[in-house]
Amino acid sequence: MTGRCPKCGQFVYRLIYHSVDASSLTSPVTWRAITLQCPHCYTVLGAQLDPIAIKSDTVRETAAEVKRQLR
Ligand SMILES: [Zn+2]
Repeated sequence: MTGRCPKCGQFVYRLIYHSVDASSLTSPVTWRAITLQCPHCYTVLGAQLDPIAIKSDTVRETAAEVKRQLR
């Protein structure tokens, strides 16, 4: 079942995503994140950390650690 956008009332069959930076008000650390938007009116319907960025960062950091351990 497809839901409706709470702002424009159109059915949302797909989402538009945009890459954004996410940070805390109390920390300089920045994370890559995405917003999920209504394809009709571009209202932000959700936001989350970027799962592809998390995966690639994890692989890169794990490979670097393994390489460091093998020295
Ligand atoms: Zn909408």
